[in-house]
Amino acid sequence: MTAPIALFDVKAQQALIRPELDRRIAAVLDSGRFINGPEVGEFEERLAAFAGCAHAVGVSSGTDALQIAMMAEGVGRGDAVFLPAFTYTATAEVPLVLGATPVFVDVEAETFNIDIADLERRIALVKKDGRLRPRAVVGVDLFGLPADWQAIEAICAREGMFALDDAAQAFGAALHGKRLGRWGHAAALSFYPTKTLGAYGDGGALLTDDAARADLYRSLRTHGEGKTRYEVERTGMNGRLDTIQATILLAKMGLLEGELAQRRRVGAAYDAALSGRVGVQRNPTGAENAYGLYTIRLPEAATRARVQAALGEAKIGCGIYYPKALHHQPAYAAHHAASVAGGPPALPVSEALCHQVLSLPMHPYMSEADAARAAAAVLAAL
Ligand SMILES: *Cc1c(COP(=O)(O)O)cnc(C)c1O
Repeated sequence: MTAPIALFDVKAQQALIRPELDRRIAAVLDSGRFINGPEVGEFEERLAAFAGCAHAVGVSSGTDALQIAMMAEGVGRGDAVFLPAFTYTATAEVPLVLGATPVFVDVEAETFNIDIADLERRIALVKKDGRLRPRAVVGVDLFGLPADWQAIEAICAREGMFALDDAAQAFGAALHGKRLGRWGHAAALSFYPTKTLGAYGDGGALLTDDAARADLYRSLRTHGEGKTRYEVERTGMNGRLDTIQATILLAKMGLLEGELAQRRRVGAAYDAALSGRVGVQRNPTGAENAYGLYTIRLPEAATRARVQAALGEAKIGCGIYYPKALHHQPAYAAHHAASVAGGPPALPVSEALCHQVLSLPMHPYMSEADAARAAAAVLAAL
């Protein structure tokens, strides 16, 4: 009887750091400083050092990180925010909450990340249409693979747009030797438990090299407070990172480098077994994938259903990220249709991927042999 292989494992790590976790959590309980304890600032320093960026601001979730970043730019009514149609819902939700309009961009068939030619085309369409002002691009580093940040930065510089990196799935990834957090004007991280750096609850952060933006983020996460606590300088929100989550994240930071290395080994084992047989996410030159997920592309929905059933039979976890493109979601479809006069162009790659992708077990507490076994089960079911 072979052991099951889980899609994620958010508990194995605890055994390595349990005494430190217990000690740290007890220290917060003893201090009573549950909000804005010193551990939050300590964690922010460790985080910025890890990414190699100047500032890290801890916030309450990845979604709130995206929202605070856009609030700081004044994104709102009349603004077009360009983002991929094939991503998690939070990326599109935030511009809508702020009254802006998401403009969905197709993704590349090989990297699953935003298609730069399609981005250019849709920016030109929005400009020609004239009703919305191109304001921001949210690049998502899907499944841990950095988007084409050189191209996104160049487009945003040319158009005077804000470049926001939704790095929620990709903390630890790098592009041309620079870790995420230093690409775009700012990067949003999520510490949802299954992400590459996960808390035991919700949490997130904003990374930036820009001191003025970091100051704004700190103000916005605390109700827009000014120099003194009861001076409200701008409309903000309650978006702080809890002290307990910060101290848990501090305990985990020491393991992160080794965990990322193991994720890369597992990713390489999958690539070796699967490339040429099924579609695998291609790592472009200079991109270092953090492997938040390992996702394959199968020829069609029927094959995927067969592979899913076979993996289920073998007690090997799998999941579909994502089954529906965002422009087809009931909450977003009408906004999408109205975003460009006469209706925006189709998003064929995003739509096709939703029927074809399948994510396989990926976490740092599995072995290359586990990956080989999962891959063999996939191939046997084709
Ligand atoms: C997880 C995720 C988010 C949201 O993060 P939360 O911490 O759950 O709010 C945003 N964008 C992407 C791409 C994600 O995967």
